[in-house]
Amino acid sequence: MSDCLFCGIAAGEIPAEIVYSDGAIVAFRDLNPQAPTHVLVIPREHHVDAAHLAAANPALLGRLAGVAAEVAESDGLGGGYRLVLNSGADAGQTVNHVHLHVLGGRHLSWPPG
Ligand code: AMP
Ligand code: ZN
Repeated sequence: MSDCLFCGIAAGEIPAEIVYSDGAIVAFRDLNPQAPTHVLVIPREHHVDAAHLAAANPALLGRLAGVAAEVAESDGLGGGYRLVLNSGADAGQTVNHVHLHVLGGRHLSWPPG
């Protein structure tokens, strides 16, 4: 999808601070971080949200969590971190290419806003 921001980042056409990359997954730092660590983990394949990815390729959805754990370890988040998949407008999803937020490096309150 040429008009998709995150497809553009995955393709290297749009700059981002990449922290992990393999043949199927890219992780990069959020432009507007909400915590000391705020990384987005995405599949290179375009899927609108987690449900679409789960339906099409559940193993790939699982691999996003594995990459998130690697990012958390390399950022020193041994005390814990939060994974977020905003799905749909009511949850605040603004980019319609599934992305797993990895947040950490400060205390994260619950419930979220
Ligand atoms: P969401 O609201 O769950 O759809 O999350 C979208 C996230 O993408 C937000 O946290 C934005 O700050 C982030 N974002 C938007 N554009 C970029 C970009 N060019 N590079 C990195 N992160 C971005
Ligand atoms: Zn896309």
